[in-house]
Amino acid sequence: MIWRAVGLALCLCGTVVSAGPRPQIETDGVGAQAKQAILQDAYRQVETYFEKQHGLALDQPFVLVGTDMPEDMGVRLAKGLRALDRRPLRKPIDTERLCGQKRVGAAANRNYILMCWQQPDAYDAAWRTALGPRLTQILAHEFTHQIQYQLAQDRPARRSKRLDDWLLGPNWMVEGTAEVIETDFVTPIAAFTGKDVFEYQNRARRSRLTLSEMSKSSSVKGPAGYGVSRFACLMLARKHGISALFDYFEALGKLKDRDSAFEVTFGQTFAAFEAEFEKLRRDFGAARDYGRDGS
Ligand SMILES: [Zn+2]
Repeated sequence: MIWRAVGLALCLCGTVVSAGPRPQIETDGVGAQAKQAILQDAYRQVETYFEKQHGLALDQPFVLVGTDMPEDMGVRLAKGLRALDRRPLRKPIDTERLCGQKRVGAAANRNYILMCWQQPDAYDAAWRTALGPRLTQILAHEFTHQIQYQLAQDRPARRSKRLDDWLLGPNWMVEGTAEVIETDFVTPIAAFTGKDVFEYQNRARRSRLTLSEMSKSSSVKGPAGYGVSRFACLMLARKHGISALFDYFEALGKLKDRDSAFEVTFGQTFAAFEAEFEKLRRDFGAARDYGRDGS
């Protein structure tokens, strides 16, 4: 079990108030109060979930941009990064890819989380009620990426010219872990039934992508890849406990080698798990019982 630092929590009138770093929230002008409120509320829920369920807290603030005006996202982010005294982004944000026609679009890096949504008729209570749960769930996914960077000592996920050493990854572990945490935030995976496992397995079966193929690339290759990554990490979490997914990133930060970190955390080589995973993906009984019968 790896020890983790947890932010101090103060109890005021029955409400847990975290002493962790506050995000630098940046929104645009129209409905700014409602936007600030929905982002603050989402952040508080996600932060509380991480502290209570996983004993994890961020050790530094980040910029949280939320807007229905993707074209201004770069300006908002630059303002937030300046406020936190961080370096500006070198490349422009691909807002079409990020936001498009999505109900909620999002992306994360160590210094920021970007979120965008469609403009509603009015920024009122009905909007908050309708969008809040989805926005919060997606923030749980993006917050997981923040924690992964932190545990893996701020290693980037993509290779740059100045860096040819170890990286955060593999991508199926990065995205699969975030997907499992996003799921657990809504429905604890410990309470998963056979039917739930079947549904997740089903989505993983729609793709022929192997874990190795997603380890080499810089992405999990689209929605199908997310389904495979999610199921692989769900299997690891069912067998080793959900905290083991975070233990892997902590081990990666210390050992600076993916294979060693995988073996130390899960007690088998990546190659052995991959072979096992191909069976878990096809065989429902094997997936349902994985980690439940001493297997
Ligand atoms: Zn992600």
